[in-house]
Amino acid sequence: MRVPVLLAALVAVATCTETFVGHQVLRVVPTSHEELQKLQELQGLEHLKLDFWLAPRGLGSPVDIRVPFPSLQPVKAHLEAGGVSYSIMIEDVQELLDEERREMMRSSRQLPLSTNTFNYEAYHTLDEIYAFMDLLVAENPNLVSKLEIGRSTEDRPLYVLKFSTGGSNRPAVWIDTGIHSREWVTQASGVWFAKKIVDDHANNEGVASILDTMDIFLEIVTNPDGFAYTHSTNRMWRKTRSKYSGNICVGVDPNRNWDAGFGGSGASGNSCTETYHGPYPNSEPEVKSIVDFVKDHGNIKAFVSIHSYSQLLLYPYGYTTTPAADEQELNELSAKAVAALSSLYGTSYTYGSIITTIYKASGSTIDWTYNQGIKYSFTFELRDTGRYGFLLPAKQIVPTAEETWLALKVIMEHARDNIY
Ligand SMILES: [Zn+2]
Repeated sequence: MRVPVLLAALVAVATCTETFVGHQVLRVVPTSHEELQKLQELQGLEHLKLDFWLAPRGLGSPVDIRVPFPSLQPVKAHLEAGGVSYSIMIEDVQELLDEERREMMRSSRQLPLSTNTFNYEAYHTLDEIYAFMDLLVAENPNLVSKLEIGRSTEDRPLYVLKFSTGGSNRPAVWIDTGIHSREWVTQASGVWFAKKIVDDHANNEGVASILDTMDIFLEIVTNPDGFAYTHSTNRMWRKTRSKYSGNICVGVDPNRNWDAGFGGSGASGNSCTETYHGPYPNSEPEVKSIVDFVKDHGNIKAFVSIHSYSQLLLYPYGYTTTPAADEQELNELSAKAVAALSSLYGTSYTYGSIITTIYKASGSTIDWTYNQGIKYSFTFELRDTGRYGFLLPAKQIVPTAEETWLALKVIMEHARDNIY
């Protein structure tokens, strides 16, 4: 045991990467309001440096907490004193990270030469994904183009792939992945979606007919600063990398930064939390660029923002209990999409509005898009349900993307057939 720990520490020092040796992910499924309260107390104890992978959402819903090694004893004592039982989902986070790193090293690290030989079953760096996008555009100049919709805080380009067979300002579908940088299966799925759209078009199957009348916009790395940081320094980074004077900590939660119930409950004003909403709506260029794009375009009919994990399909609202005006249609469409998704590998999904299915969340992406008049606004939470959480093994990338694609296709076809 001593040698790997020492080795991990040496590698960490050499590369400046944060290590998670001895960190555990604990799961509590609260069954009473007292237990829920115990968990909420833990959330307030900043000195423990807990990372809520799944925040408390209600009775019977799992809460997953990454607990740093020095906090394990006090956290377990706190839970045990309150009579709250817990299970250990991940024994040692660093072991999974080491395995993930070894897996990345095993797959080719050279920049891809063709999208046909690109390894879709591996996680990739930002440079590799950007190289993939350029290849896809070069191989399919009549279908795919790359737009730069803005620059990130650290001045990285914010690229969107546009899939279009012609026309001008056609009704469109928007898909984004990776707005939370540590949710690696989402960016990897986005890469797979891009190739799938091209292949379907070439083979005149699947979404080819959608492209007859609609355009598809796909932003694969929606938070590139955060994503680069997950590779270079801290695999668990979720937020943007912006710094504001007066703030102690770096980064804003880009899924609390939208101008929809901004700053309400379900977001935090504390820059050191994972749900910090930022100083004002659209403060993050990663968010503002999409806001400007959506407004300028004016004809986006479906907007899907993809996260992980917990296997959910969600629609507005998150900031209010008032049901969306289209609640019934969105609910029925979700049922169809989830049925399609599950048909491939039997993966079970739950669906519903954000506030009734998970928790109150203000300033989230699809509440804003829905209020802009984009009726078919959805958020996915992809695999898994907590065995690996954000550290989903690479061998699950393609199955995850394949099943999700079936649900996306249902939503896109519905939007096409019900143009409003
Ligand atoms: Zn997320």
